[in-house]
Amino acid sequence: MFGNWGKIIRVDMSSGNIKVEEWGEDVARKWIGSRGLGIYLLLKEMDPGVEPLSAENKLVISAGPLTGTSAPTASRYNVITKSPLTGYIAFSNSGGYWAAELKRAGYDAIIVEGASDKPYYLFIHDDHVELKDATPLWGLKMSETESWIRRQHNDPHIKVLGVGPAGEKLVRFAAVMNDGHRAAGRAGVGAVMGFKKLKAIAVRGSKTVRVADPEKFMLVVREKVNKIRNDPVGGGGLPKFGTSVLVNIINENGLYPYKNFQESQFQYAYEQSGEAMVKKYLVKNKPCYACPIGCARVNKLPTIGETEGPEYESIWALGSNMGINDLATIIEANHMADEYGFDTISLGGTLATAMELYERKLIKDEDLGDFPPPRFGNTEVLHYYIEKIAKREGFGNLLAEGGYRLAKHFNGEQYFMGVKKLELPAYDPRGAEGHGLGYATNNRGGCHIKNYMISPEILGYPKKMDPHDISDEKINMLILFQHLTAVIDSSGLCLFSTFGLWADDYRDLLNAALGWDYTTEDYLKIGERIWNAERLFNLKAGLKPLEEDTLPKRLLEEPVPSGPNKGRVVRLKEMLPRYYKLRGWGEDGTIPYEKLKELGLEEFA
Ligand code: SF4
Repeated sequence: MFGNWGKIIRVDMSSGNIKVEEWGEDVARKWIGSRGLGIYLLLKEMDPGVEPLSAENKLVISAGPLTGTSAPTASRYNVITKSPLTGYIAFSNSGGYWAAELKRAGYDAIIVEGASDKPYYLFIHDDHVELKDATPLWGLKMSETESWIRRQHNDPHIKVLGVGPAGEKLVRFAAVMNDGHRAAGRAGVGAVMGFKKLKAIAVRGSKTVRVADPEKFMLVVREKVNKIRNDPVGGGGLPKFGTSVLVNIINENGLYPYKNFQESQFQYAYEQSGEAMVKKYLVKNKPCYACPIGCARVNKLPTIGETEGPEYESIWALGSNMGINDLATIIEANHMADEYGFDTISLGGTLATAMELYERKLIKDEDLGDFPPPRFGNTEVLHYYIEKIAKREGFGNLLAEGGYRLAKHFNGEQYFMGVKKLELPAYDPRGAEGHGLGYATNNRGGCHIKNYMISPEILGYPKKMDPHDISDEKINMLILFQHLTAVIDSSGLCLFSTFGLWADDYRDLLNAALGWDYTTEDYLKIGERIWNAERLFNLKAGLKPLEEDTLPKRLLEEPVPSGPNKGRVVRLKEMLPRYYKLRGWGEDGTIPYEKLKELGLEEFA
């Protein structure tokens, strides 16, 4: 095989056994790798009904065939498992340098199964793969973990992936972190790793990823890099201001949620924008492996020195969503969240839920113990709460369960702003209704990144569409995004490469690397297979489509109070039946056998 090595490390944490297994071109041609390989392995090997925090759940950490090559943004890996937050499929994605190093070591993926009583870290150096005692690492933050492992092996170039204290304490929205500040954040994949007592995976490799036709591949890569560099967002806004270039754009368009989506614009948004960050705190950009965009930021504050981030989503989640506008506080909070190993979106979403429950007197002072009141805009308490959640101390133990369980506990489920128990990200869909349909139908719950309809509805990629159009054309664009994103994730590339590239470009890169002659339609069919396979996993795990493919009541019934989208709600009821139909699903949101057969999924029916 080219691109993929055809090698997977299987680690049984219960017995300590490690095996290296082979997988073949036949599987790659149906699933590409990474996210696609992950769902294929889970459907093949695991009952989707298992308890997420149990030895029976498996954790697949998987790079794509382009990861570690010179393709633009070829830095990504996915973590695929059953989520302890949602109870459904989790596929969380991260960049940095770790995944390229895994490929350099000669492996595509790691399957972690079972669970241990004692903490270990996995050490991989080319053909040498070993579980090592992580007792001294248990309880350490991410930067301490990385330094300890590098010191221990006397090698500053080792790349480290792992969980922080939040993952160890089974916080339901703990992230898997790598390279310090990069996060496979969503849906609690870090809690699954923590449950298995796998603290970290340290990798060092010396191989070069093989592509089918190196000369042709280089020509294709050069062409695609130029396309990204010449794009106004991929080569302009993102490198200059980072992802937080979106703060002002999204706020001006009336989609920047404020105080747990009670409003859709924030008066002080500029003060937390990418432009403000450049003026006050930016030291430099820090691109992931092989990335010509370099959206990632290094900032400096007198209190904590240099740190990475925050991204747009984290600025909003730890800022506007809680009514907080001080950028320094947000940068510090983001730094803490990375060190403890949190998904910042769910962290901010859970805290904002607590703030609204407190505002509405559903959480009372006596419920808080010795915790300070969680009031919107109370900058002083943010850092305190983050630490307490990571340690599951006092009231923090309840918050560590996530926003849905918190709201349910206090009889305020309608104030949880999430889908399928996953907290929503930084776009009010009442201002972009196709994006709302994306939230409602995403396989991992309230997620923006796997169906980024903000691109056509607000930014004009690949073409500008009216954000309030709910025609079949809009729904078909959403379906295209869902399939294309599955292909991009499975290849090992970053979604931001779509600011310059589109479906044909990914076909060119994959064909040149893998030596295939697939058409764009062939690749999109693989994307459709992956999307349906994830849906099938959820259905087998107990998904009730007509109840759960939905949005919080506020977004369906409460009109936006002010701003450009004043009076709008999401007309989900008008879109969802057509979405099912356009996908070839039943009226009840299930997948008919004929559809599974058409996609080559009948073995999992
Ligand atoms: S665009 Fe940003 S997140 Fe994506 S690979 Fe490049 S630096 Fe990393």
